[in-house]
Amino acid sequence: MPTYKTKAIILSYMKFKEADKIIRAYSPHFGRISAIAKGARKTKSKFGARLEPFSYCELVLYKGRNLDIITQIEILESFSNIRESLKKLAYAYVITGLILRSGAESDPTNIFPFFLFSLRELQKIDDSLLRQWLITFQLKYIILSGYKPILDKCSLCSREIEKLTKNAFSFKHGGLLCSDCSIKEETPTILENETIEMLRDLSEKDIKNWNENTYSDLAQKECQKVLENYIYYYLESKLKTIQFLREIEKIY
Ligand SMILES: [Zn+2]
Repeated sequence: MPTYKTKAIILSYMKFKEADKIIRAYSPHFGRISAIAKGARKTKSKFGARLEPFSYCELVLYKGRNLDIITQIEILESFSNIRESLKKLAYAYVITGLILRSGAESDPTNIFPFFLFSLRELQKIDDSLLRQWLITFQLKYIILSGYKPILDKCSLCSREIEKLTKNAFSFKHGGLLCSDCSIKEETPTILENETIEMLRDLSEKDIKNWNENTYSDLAQKECQKVLENYIYYYLESKLKTIQFLREIEKIY
């Protein structure tokens, strides 16, 4: 029977029949995949606890008629630290939700290393950096998808933005507006200087250096709000996982 190998990040699983699991995973070659792990719910299963969400693994699968069947799994990185913290788990699901949004046109060969790197960073950081982590990876995902916000010139007339502008941001035009254009725009969002600085800094910075600067609480809150609206506008994705995150944050 034809078999194939792929690296993948496990996203979730559900029970199937008496003893099996159907897993959903994200692969650098195929994007989102589903496959059956036969007997995975038996106590002496060869899969053990290796099908947990966010495990990074190498799978051997064979082609089934409907779903492919996992014959082997080797854990490369378990990311158990993410699963042990409900808060980190909620943050991880926001980025996952973004990557898996329906109609994603992005290429998994680009998205996969980005996703893996985001998990490696999430695994390492303490809770004080969680918000900055989320802002960074949302912004970088937007850029990867081809919708980089325009922050260095007017997004409508392309004029250089003068220093003392009103800091008007237009979702429709995808970036900042000069003072003339901001008058024409019905309801631009007015942002604080520090928010624009944070957005500029993170969008230009190499993703590896995402946490070398810290930003004010105000800038982080405003950035998060702008990005949620931006994602809604351009990627047509209302992130349900954000709601889950808000609930978790209320509790902890
Ligand atoms: Zn303009």
